[in-house]
Amino acid sequence: MAKIVCVLYDDPVDGYPKSYARDDLPQINRYPDGQTLPTPEAIDFQPGMLLGSVSGELGLRKYLESQGHILIVTSDKDGPDSVLERELPDAEVIISQPFWPAYLTAERIAKAPKLKLALTAGIGSDHIDLQAAMDRGITVAEVTYCNSISVAEHVVMMILGLVRNYIPSYQWVVKGGWNIADCVTRSYDVEGMHVGTVAAGRIGLAVLRRLKPFDMHLHYFDRYRLPEAVEKELGLTWHPSVEDMVKVCDVVTINVPLHPETENLFNEQLLSKMKRGAYLVNTARGKICDREAIVRALETGQLAGYAGDVWFPQPAPKDHPWRAMPHHGMTPHISGTSLSAQARYAAGTREILECWFEGRPIRDEYLIVDGGKLAGTGAHSYSAGNATGGSEEAAKFKTA
Ligand code: NDP
Repeated sequence: MAKIVCVLYDDPVDGYPKSYARDDLPQINRYPDGQTLPTPEAIDFQPGMLLGSVSGELGLRKYLESQGHILIVTSDKDGPDSVLERELPDAEVIISQPFWPAYLTAERIAKAPKLKLALTAGIGSDHIDLQAAMDRGITVAEVTYCNSISVAEHVVMMILGLVRNYIPSYQWVVKGGWNIADCVTRSYDVEGMHVGTVAAGRIGLAVLRRLKPFDMHLHYFDRYRLPEAVEKELGLTWHPSVEDMVKVCDVVTINVPLHPETENLFNEQLLSKMKRGAYLVNTARGKICDREAIVRALETGQLAGYAGDVWFPQPAPKDHPWRAMPHHGMTPHISGTSLSAQARYAAGTREILECWFEGRPIRDEYLIVDGGKLAGTGAHSYSAGNATGGSEEAAKFKTA
């Protein structure tokens, strides 16, 4: 019998939904590279339900309790008096989503002597001190690919939204105005612009593919080059460094994991190398950008716009400067938690738990840390170390 602690975001303010806008989800058989979707033995939810909030419980309660396990579900994750902190001493498995991350710092890991599996219901395990997990022999796994396409769609939406000045124009309508000139003095076409992705992994490549029909010039920077056939098919320009790429781009999209090599990558110095009036879209992780440098770049016009859905910490305090900076198109962290994505990552979480409790190997592509070292996707995409520093600031959201 194990105790599983599952940290999820709060239910909607009006309560858990009783009905939904649509009746079903499209059937997707495989991810674009051929990887199969999650394959649990069974699921106990209807795809299309809200699963990522506390009452949705990722659809796990029936399964886990039928196996004799204890499931604790909470949204109360930050600060020393939180439910998460209280449950640490007997938790064997901690599940959380990057949207509402249970920060597992070295101090918290030390308070969780029974912890064996830290499971990310989503993609991106930077909220876990990976070095501490390696040192303690804790397995870290995530549901690779479950929401990569969801994010790619959000990126395309945000690029179009910023460049075409959608949000301010919408606001004029809501305010009762018809202020065409106010709307269009910051509105451009993306056609012919140069767009570059920092990393061309699952999300980065999917963004490039989706932008190709807009007749944009496509660039990427990654440590490893894509196959020549893909570069040719999409007409991609590869850059050996991020500096080399940003100086020729009108739009830059960040799709790299957060790890010690990428923390604070977009600082004052790199932002100053971008074209004046460039747009920056970051749906990867807030900490990849220097918080104050982004605000200054928008205020001076070095950036024409910034959008994304990732912040640090999460939830962002009410006085986080990105809530009020000019020309932004921020959302709370939602791109990877559409109802469509939730069905996939809830099933993937169930698959990983079934493997864990039945002693079967977890798919290699789901592994980030295993056997005391980076493993699977983690060995390919991450570097050792810790990127959770400063996460205790998340408690400010509750108290502010
Ligand atoms: P992938 O693992 O498919 O892609 C990551 C890419 O980043 C890989 O190509 C990797 O290169 C590259 N990379 C890693 N480190 C560096 C570096 N220092 N310099 C250049 N390239 C680097 O992951 P996804 O595309 O699925 O996801 C990417 C990130 O997006 C996630 O880690 C997560 O942080 C974020 N994300 C956000 C979501 C949201 O809801 N907003 C949801 C899902 C993901 P290589 O492996 O070739 O070394």
